[in-house]
Amino acid sequence: MNKRSVRDLDVRGKRVLVRVDFNVPIRDGRVVDDARIERALPTIRYLLERGARPALISHLGRPKGEPDPECTMDPVAIRLEELLGVPVLKLDTAVGREVEEALAAFSEGIVLLENSRFYPGEMKNDPEFSEQLASPFDLYVDDAFGVAHRAHATTVGVAKLLPAAAGLLMEEELDYLDRIRLHPERPFVAILGGAKVSDKLGIMQSMLELADALLIGGAMCFTFFKAKGLETGNSLVEEDYLEEAKHLMSEAGEKLVLPVDLVAAEMMEEGAPSKLVGVEEFPPGLMGLDIGPETVEEFKSYISRAKTIFWNGPMGVFEVDAFAKGTEGVARAVAESEALSVGGGGDLVAAVRKLGLEDEMSFISTGGGASLEYVEGRELPGVAVLPDKERSWMARRPLMAANWKMNKVVREAEVYVTHLLPRISDAEELDVAIFAPFTCLHAVARMTQDTPVLAGAQDFYYEDSGAYTGEVSAPMLKDIGAGAVIVGHSERREIFGETDEMVARKTARAVSAGLLPVVCVGEKGAERDAGRMWERVSGQVRAAFEYLDAGGIRGGAIVFAYEPVWAIGTGEVASPEDAQDAIGKIRGLLEELGGGSFAEEVRILYGGSIKVGNIGEIMAQKDVDGGLVGGASLEAGSFAELVNGARAVIE
Ligand code: ADP
Ligand code: MG
Repeated sequence: MNKRSVRDLDVRGKRVLVRVDFNVPIRDGRVVDDARIERALPTIRYLLERGARPALISHLGRPKGEPDPECTMDPVAIRLEELLGVPVLKLDTAVGREVEEALAAFSEGIVLLENSRFYPGEMKNDPEFSEQLASPFDLYVDDAFGVAHRAHATTVGVAKLLPAAAGLLMEEELDYLDRIRLHPERPFVAILGGAKVSDKLGIMQSMLELADALLIGGAMCFTFFKAKGLETGNSLVEEDYLEEAKHLMSEAGEKLVLPVDLVAAEMMEEGAPSKLVGVEEFPPGLMGLDIGPETVEEFKSYISRAKTIFWNGPMGVFEVDAFAKGTEGVARAVAESEALSVGGGGDLVAAVRKLGLEDEMSFISTGGGASLEYVEGRELPGVAVLPDKERSWMARRPLMAANWKMNKVVREAEVYVTHLLPRISDAEELDVAIFAPFTCLHAVARMTQDTPVLAGAQDFYYEDSGAYTGEVSAPMLKDIGAGAVIVGHSERREIFGETDEMVARKTARAVSAGLLPVVCVGEKGAERDAGRMWERVSGQVRAAFEYLDAGGIRGGAIVFAYEPVWAIGTGEVASPEDAQDAIGKIRGLLEELGGGSFAEEVRILYGGSIKVGNIGEIMAQKDVDGGLVGGASLEAGSFAELVNGARAVIE
């Protein structure tokens, strides 16, 4: 997620307006399902632990812009206090002096404001109402992803008036949905069900582009069957969408997978006589209310092979036990799968929870409409209004690294360093490293000892000592003053057969030894031509963490270098945009592996052909943090020029 997070704000002592989604079902003055309250707790606790003064605001039900006793937040306050274990001061207003006084006087716990939809200005996103809402506060945090597709005063208006950030739940939602939307691991299987085709046309269209297979269940399959000219009895069919359905089917080809058998009954009721039918012989007079067991098996075969699953809408009328088996079968298959699985939609979530399988999925979105719109790639007003994370250069110090490869004897190395140092002596805004052959590494390390230049090795072995003829270890490198090491350079992978497994062991050992590993990844020409660039590169990045927990180390402890292997020494060039594209994706993957702040700290270098002529453009790319320079680093003067060229962009 590239939006500013509550974790990026200094909240101590601050009065924070938090938009939450407490739109929960209430019966007889009691909250009957508190899932949405639960999901907001991490942000509330986060703020309390850091000494903020939070006040929560939400809508509840459908009051008509005026107070409605049916829709008061009082029952929510009671349940929230039980869950949170701190006092909740519930106010009967959402704006005005009372709010200011409560914030000033209240020393413990939190404030809960009254239903935002008691005010006509809420749904109109009225500027004056937004002013009133914002005025008692210092900061605004939005944790209500479920209403992010609505431009209301509490989701958009106030966000423009106060320093704003995403809450922890909002952040998690965006992170998971970005993984679905931006770089899904394949095969990617989308499962869509529920009542209406019309609700889900947009998502169907985008899933046909994004996913490898689209499994259709629920009532919506009947519109497709009807469009195919099949008998559908009294099943729910949207006659107005038959043309759309035909069009989708012709466009989708094999990707669209429809049920092969169905459960049909006279009525949508428990105990109604039902029978199992093939889709080709649907009996007139009956309604299709669930997918059949053969369909479940068929869907399972897709689900078990998937690496990414997105599911919206139940497979049948799950509210009635007799028609819940399809949804259950699919849910169990998703629960068993190792894939990243994300579910959304009010009814699907209810179905999964009823089965007790919510923890078996990777993530359950709190957004129904919002998650669909977001995955479709539409802009959500409540997300768009939040400011982007500030990307300061200082968060990641650029690094220019010289890789001498198998060149230079000791005398040449000494001359090089002697020439380089005065030329870059005032380079304070970036790091410089020299990766030297073992024979002259000691000399380089000694000469650069009290300078900003880091001396590094081009390789090492992950065992510390023993019967490994020809190798050197991490402690040996440290012993002669090396501070960094290249791991898995493309030449080592290609010429010396270094595997992902060895790269993983070396990376982990370097980190544990306190050597900065520069882990090289990149695809070969043939892989690029076969459209397998990202498969290769993402595989290498993932593999590097085999023995290392990305969530458990600092981002500063590891550096990656992306080398488009096909562009090295071949005359073919990768453009700065190609570099950004690949490196941006790598950063996205690092975020997935180790979280947002980890990914923000990891430096990713570009290892294509860097020259004085293109260094400016390359460094200007937002995710590119420097270069691993081969040929152009062999001469001190030209490497110094590159370092200074990089500095020119940073300033
Ligand atoms: P979600 O809330 O997960 O997005 P929807 O609101 O689109 O899902 O649809 C859920 C509803 O669809 C459920 O109430 C379910 O009973 C109904 N449904 C599913 N299959 C059928 C069917 N074959 N016939 C009629 N209704 C169905
Ligand atoms: Mg629904």
